[in-house]
Amino acid sequence: MATNRRRHEMALRRQCRELLRALDVRAPLDVEEFGRRFGEYRGRPVLFGAYDIPVPGPSAVTHVDPHADVVLYPAAAGQIRQTHCKIHELAHLVAGHPPELIRGIHLYRRTNFDSVEEWEAEVVASIILEWAMVCTAVSAAIGRPSFDGGRVERAFTLHRRGWL
Ligand SMILES: [Zn+2]
Repeated sequence: MATNRRRHEMALRRQCRELLRALDVRAPLDVEEFGRRFGEYRGRPVLFGAYDIPVPGPSAVTHVDPHADVVLYPAAAGQIRQTHCKIHELAHLVAGHPPELIRGIHLYRRTNFDSVEEWEAEVVASIILEWAMVCTAVSAAIGRPSFDGGRVERAFTLHRRGWL
């Protein structure tokens, strides 16, 4: 079981690495820009919107529009919480989870974090955040406010050492 999860996590890491390269996402991470590029890449837009969340209620949901997936995050939350909500919802989409299924999980079974979908979303979200942290740290180390993460990755061959 643990080995299967490990293998599964490695496959998700590979998938995310390829996606981050394909989208040419750069540090510092802009989650909405990442969503926009991901939407273009898969051919279906990802939009973001703040909403007044009922309490108790879901932390975030993805609304399925005929032309786009709309990530709704709590308007009253702090910026860090909002960013986490956006990344979590995006991670579900990156993992290929049908938005209708995720919406059901978040709305009606929000405390069930044992589901495969929730586990995958958290793994994907942490991979994206790890990438952002490494890129930001390297950017600070070389004294540039923004840089091409892919170029630095290639220069240092970080991916071959397993940082992502
Ligand atoms: Zn979720």
